[in-house]
Amino acid sequence: MLVIAARRMGYRVHTLSPEHDTPTGQVSDRAIRASYEDLEQVRSFARGVDVVTFEFESVPAAAVQAASEHVAVRPNRRVLEIAQHRIREKSFLAEHGFPVTPFVAVRTEADLLEALHRLGRPVVLKTATCGYDGKGQVRLSADVNGTDTSDADAKDAWAAIGRQESVLEAFVELDRELSVIGARGVDGSWSHFDPIENVHCDHILDVSTAPIDLPRDVVETAVGITCEVMEALDHVGVLCIEFFLTRGGRLLINEIAPRPHNSGHLTFDACRTSQFEQQARAICGVPLGSPEMLQPAAMANLLGDLWANGEPNWAAALASPNVKLHLYGKTKPRIGRKMGHLTALARTAVEARELVLSARSVLTRR
Ligand code: AMP
Repeated sequence: MLVIAARRMGYRVHTLSPEHDTPTGQVSDRAIRASYEDLEQVRSFARGVDVVTFEFESVPAAAVQAASEHVAVRPNRRVLEIAQHRIREKSFLAEHGFPVTPFVAVRTEADLLEALHRLGRPVVLKTATCGYDGKGQVRLSADVNGTDTSDADAKDAWAAIGRQESVLEAFVELDRELSVIGARGVDGSWSHFDPIENVHCDHILDVSTAPIDLPRDVVETAVGITCEVMEALDHVGVLCIEFFLTRGGRLLINEIAPRPHNSGHLTFDACRTSQFEQQARAICGVPLGSPEMLQPAAMANLLGDLWANGEPNWAAALASPNVKLHLYGKTKPRIGRKMGHLTALARTAVEARELVLSARSVLTRR
């Protein structure tokens, strides 16, 4: 989607990925297949372009360093290093006074047991790296009395996540989840989309809706935090902050994603400038576009599960002229894999949500 937005503006796009036939590569001018560890290939790729960016943050630091020796890399190396590692991310946010879910860094089983006693239960153990969509997470619940003194489950959890560097996080009583997507230009100018409400299913984003009905002070706080985080990181490009709104009305940062985010996919159809065009503008150093929302919208993810009995019934889902289909060109529809999404546009956010859910529900109709 970033490539589509960039090419519409006349940019030529080259991609480098270890995979073959990637969604991004399919629509770029040039798709290079190379490992991120192959620094010679990374350098030669970087010499052929004017700016480098990333679709996801788990790119090895050495590859980022190699590219930055030849060309501007946006976002910068420090942003990626922080965002790809939960301990670094949470520590950075906490040290800068941003509100985060209570957490303790865990490096050994003894650390985990101690952290558990400090935080109490329920908690969730998350690997420091490479965790997404609930992968690399184990929840430790409270027993009926609110405590579990055996800690046997903690040892199992430690083994289950592969005994690797992690964070133990208090499990928060959520009222709602929302995200704010901001963008910051090379000149420090910034902009943001309206907050988006997110509903997860099995830890995977399921449905996003905007606009959302929130008290003005919550919106102002969430937007203010997003801007301050971008400033603190000297970030250039789009950045998404996923927030928890607790039952007590507090906003806590769950995580940051220094790139266009799944919850912002609805901006493609609903906003004057999509998050992808905004990313292209920001990293290429031209002024940011208007993030104004033209119509309420809802986005529903399409996971590989929908292919269990063959190709989904696209015609049924598209029966409403206000439903848009986006498929990413991934060939293998695995369970839990994000294959595409539907966006519905309507008079209100509630109607858009109903429409997108009903369109998705008929996809398995024969
Ligand atoms: P994550 O992969 O860390 O973004 O987690 C995915 C989803 O799991 C979140 O969007 C929440 O719905 C839920 N979750 C993760 N961490 C917590 C937590 N500390 N408290 C409550 N819910 C959580």
